[in-house]
Amino acid sequence: MTFIVAIDGPAAAGKGTISKAVAAHFGFAHLDTGLLYRAVGAKTLSDIDPIEAAKTLTPADMQGDLRTPEVAQAASKVAVISEVRAALVDFQRNFAARNGGAVLDGRDIGTVICPDADVKLFVTASAEVRAERRFLELSAKEHDVTRDQVLADVIARDKRDSERKEAPLKPAGDAVTIDTSELSIEDAVAAALSVVDQARG
Ligand code: C5P
Repeated sequence: MTFIVAIDGPAAAGKGTISKAVAAHFGFAHLDTGLLYRAVGAKTLSDIDPIEAAKTLTPADMQGDLRTPEVAQAASKVAVISEVRAALVDFQRNFAARNGGAVLDGRDIGTVICPDADVKLFVTASAEVRAERRFLELSAKEHDVTRDQVLADVIARDKRDSERKEAPLKPAGDAVTIDTSELSIEDAVAAALSVVDQARG
């Protein structure tokens, strides 16, 4: 049985939390596709060519702390390169087609990678709410950041992700939007589970 849940949305909207909860609840596998772009971005920080990095990416490249502000910006810069995106398509589609169901989260899952997904969610929240969440997350990991810096980073990344020519961040026409700005984690997860439940019939 294949069953594909595509979860897209901007940074720190709650996609990761919701994806993990949906995968755990239904016993599906989960792929955080942002990690692929982060791994490529991280390599460019050591002067490796992004296209070469994307073509030769291995699971080992996904290890280590890729959740830093520097890597996030590097990821969104390599993500505008069409050859980088093309090199990562097959891996994502093969993952999605696995037996037993899959949840993929990212920016273009419902629009480009899996346009026929069984469920498409677009998880979003205001830039201020997302920046505050990211600030708390980074501060807890002892990253030396200010609220203003994090908000500016979130806005810059949103702009680059939504304005790029290739696979821009946007909801698929048939996606269900969940705005988590004023939702607790529990309520956001419950909203997502109920959409998936309905689609499973
Ligand atoms: O989701 P995350 O914040 O880890 O993604 C890092 C960056 O990777 C995003 O800002 C975006 O530029 C890029 N990305 C993408 N397409 C995806 C997933 C992530 O372009 N499916």
